[in-house]
Amino acid sequence: MAKRKITLREFVARRAQGRCEYCRSPASFAHRSFSLEHIQPRSRKGKPSPGNLALSCQGCNNHKYNRTKAHDTVSDEYVVLFHPRRHRWTDHFAWTDDGTQILGLTRIGRATAEALQLNRPALVNLRRVLVAAGEHPPHE
Ligand SMILES: [Zn+2]
Repeated sequence: MAKRKITLREFVARRAQGRCEYCRSPASFAHRSFSLEHIQPRSRKGKPSPGNLALSCQGCNNHKYNRTKAHDTVSDEYVVLFHPRRHRWTDHFAWTDDGTQILGLTRIGRATAEALQLNRPALVNLRRVLVAAGEHPPHE
């Protein structure tokens, strides 16, 4: 029997282990389907290729919009946003001890957490429930 070729969406979702590559929320607990987010936006010549796509929840996708840089208030610099294909999440972010909030560890992490609002109230509420259910934080 011939193996079915997986779609680009399936490839990106599997690579992301079914989680938003910014806020790490699981697609399996989201009420809206996740997007294939163009890390380099299409409006800035970003290609719909695996190296430029990230699995993203609607909230992160909306907040990122067509940005590639954001302001870090600590260093007062504009820095590139977290790039899921070039950066490792754990190099730039960490969870608070209770697992409900994302901390930016670097200029990139802080600027991205602020720009994409990675600690939106609904996300924090979801994380609280997922922690209690033993489903969060993810194993990185
Ligand atoms: Zn997200």
